[in-house]
Amino acid sequence: MNLPADVQNIISVLESNGHEAYAVGGCVRDCILGKVPHDWDITTSALPEQVKALFERTFDTGIEHGTVTVLMHGVGYEVTTYRVDGKYEDGRHPKEVTFTASLEEDLKRRDFTINAMAYNDIRGLVDLFGGEEDLEAGIIRAVGNPTERFTEDALRMLRALRFSAQLGFEIEQGTYDAIKTLAPTLGKISAERIQVEMVKLVTSAHPERIRDVYATGLTKIFFPEFDDMMECQQVNKHHMYSVGEHTIVSMGLAPDDKVIRLTMMLHDIAKPVCKTTDENGQNHFKMHPVKGAEMARTVLRRLKFDNDTTDKVCNLVKNHDDRPEINPRNVRRMIIRVGQENFNDLLAVKRADCLAQSMYHREEKLSYIDELEKVFNEVVAAGDCLRIKDLQINGKDLIAMGVPQGQRIGAVLSTIFDAVVENPELNQRETLLNMVKSMIK
Ligand code: ATP
Ligand code: MG
Repeated sequence: MNLPADVQNIISVLESNGHEAYAVGGCVRDCILGKVPHDWDITTSALPEQVKALFERTFDTGIEHGTVTVLMHGVGYEVTTYRVDGKYEDGRHPKEVTFTASLEEDLKRRDFTINAMAYNDIRGLVDLFGGEEDLEAGIIRAVGNPTERFTEDALRMLRALRFSAQLGFEIEQGTYDAIKTLAPTLGKISAERIQVEMVKLVTSAHPERIRDVYATGLTKIFFPEFDDMMECQQVNKHHMYSVGEHTIVSMGLAPDDKVIRLTMMLHDIAKPVCKTTDENGQNHFKMHPVKGAEMARTVLRRLKFDNDTTDKVCNLVKNHDDRPEINPRNVRRMIIRVGQENFNDLLAVKRADCLAQSMYHREEKLSYIDELEKVFNEVVAAGDCLRIKDLQINGKDLIAMGVPQGQRIGAVLSTIFDAVVENPELNQRETLLNMVKSMIK
C-alpha cells in the first residue's frame, strides 16, 4: 500500500519514539479498492499529549476523544489514540472514551469489517475481522455481533446502507436482519447525523439503495412520507411504477449532484396526499408540485438541512412539472420564476423524471425538454432582461423624476419590468424614462 509521504512521516515519528501508529479505517479500505482516499486517519498507541509533543504544528480537534490534528504542508491529519468507545450521543464522538494500548480493542469498536483494518509499512495490513475478504466479496458486515453494535450506536444501521450504496455492496444477512429488528431505535439519533448519511447515500453511485432504507423500516422513522410514496400506486399510461419506485428510478437517472438528487427524492412527495380516484379506479394527482414543495420543506427542515439547500430543492420540486407552451416570452417568465442559476438543474430534473416514466410519449416529452433548453440558451444569449437590475433605469432615476421613495419606486419598477419581460425591445433608457413619465403624470 502506498502511503502519502506526510502520512508515512507521521507514522515513522510515532513509531521511532516507541509508539505504534497505523493508517486506519476509510483510507485503508479505499486504498485496497484502488480509490484515492479523501482523507487519512491515523490511529496510535500514543496519548494525545505525547502526539502533541512530537509534532511542531498540531491543534486539538477532539482531544477528550483522543483526536489531535497534525498539520503537514497545510493538510490536517487526524491522529487518534487507540480507544474503546462508550455510547455515541452527538455527531462524531461517543460520550465517553477509554484509551487503550491495544490496536485490537481500537479496531473492535469500529462499525464494519471493511472499515476496521489498519496498515503501516512495518507490520503491513492488520485485518482481524476478515475485512479484506469482505471487500473482495462486496459485503458490508458488522464487526462482532450486529445487534450489540447497532444497540451501541443506531446510526450504524443507516451507515451500512450508505456504504452499500457508495460501494455497490450487499449487506450480510445477519447484519441486515439486525437492522430490520432494530430500525425503530434510529429514532434516538440526531437529525444532523442522519442527514450526513442520507446525503452520502443519495449522491452515491447507487442511490436506488434507498429502497433498502425503506425495506428495513428505517425511512419510516425519519421520512415516513417515503413509505407513503412506496405504497402509492399510479397505474396510468405515463407510469409503470408506484410513486416510490418511480422516485427511486429517477434518482438513479439524475446526475449525482446533492440538490438534484434530493429533488428527485422529493419531487412527487405530495402525490399520496393529492390523490383522487375516478370511477374507473384510476388515480389522479392534482396540484401536487405546489403541495410537494411545502412537504419537501417539512422533510428538509426535519433533517436540519441548511436554508440554501432547502430553498433550492423546494423551488425545483415546485417547478418540476411546469410545461408552458415554448416561446421566448413564456421561457423568460419561467426563468424569472425558477431563477436563471437554477434552470440547468431544472432541466436535469425534468429529464430524469421523464426517463423514469413509461415509454408513452417519451420522445415528445424529451424533445419538449430539448426545445426548452434551446430557447433558454437563446434567451440568455440574447441578453434579455431577466432581473429588475437588468433594466436600463433604476431607482435613482425614478427619485430624480420625483417618484416618491419607498413602495412606489418598487411598484413602478416592477410594472416596467413586467412590460420589458413581455417585450425586451422596450429596454432602452429613453423608452423607459418616457414610460415612467406617463405613469406618474
Ligand atoms: P468516508 O469515506 O465517508 O469518510 P469513512 O469510512 O472514513 O468513510 P468516517 O465516518 O469518516 O467514515 O469514519 C472513519 C472511521 O471511523 C470509519 O472507517 C470507522 O472505522 C469509524 N467509524 C466512524 N463512525 C463510526 C460509528 N458510528 N461507529 C463505529 N465506527 C465508526
Ligand atoms: Mg472519513
